[in-house]
Amino acid sequence: MTDCIFCRIIDGSIPCSKVYEDEWVFAFKDIQPKAEVHVLVIPKLHIERLDHLDSSHAELITHMMLILPELAKSQGLDNGFRTIINTGPGGGQEVGHLHIHLLGGSNLPGFH
Ligand code: IMP
Repeated sequence: MTDCIFCRIIDGSIPCSKVYEDEWVFAFKDIQPKAEVHVLVIPKLHIERLDHLDSSHAELITHMMLILPELAKSQGLDNGFRTIINTGPGGGQEVGHLHIHLLGGSNLPGFH
């Protein structure tokens, strides 16, 4: 069994509040939301962090980027949204499976 918590969410062995799934991507609500809407968008393929990507992942990453606006709309974020990718300990990454934070609505934390 994998010890990656997000791989275990994908395979259903850890419960989550799923908001989207397709062949390549899985999205679920963050367990400790930092804003009214806080969704994590992850590749089904276990990639640890952004700087582990290479050109073989181009199609996957393009797909992830293109579904973000659709996901934001499905969560009621018609007026815009914020995306964050933390990379490595220096970037505040706590879970070692690449993920995009999709944030919006009220209580959006400041970031300027
Ligand atoms: P990071 O700091 O960018 O690695 O963010 C990891 C995120 O995963 C944090 O916002 C956590 O709240 C979230 N998280 C950790 N475990 C779970 C879980 O089991 N379900 C949903 N979100 C989780």
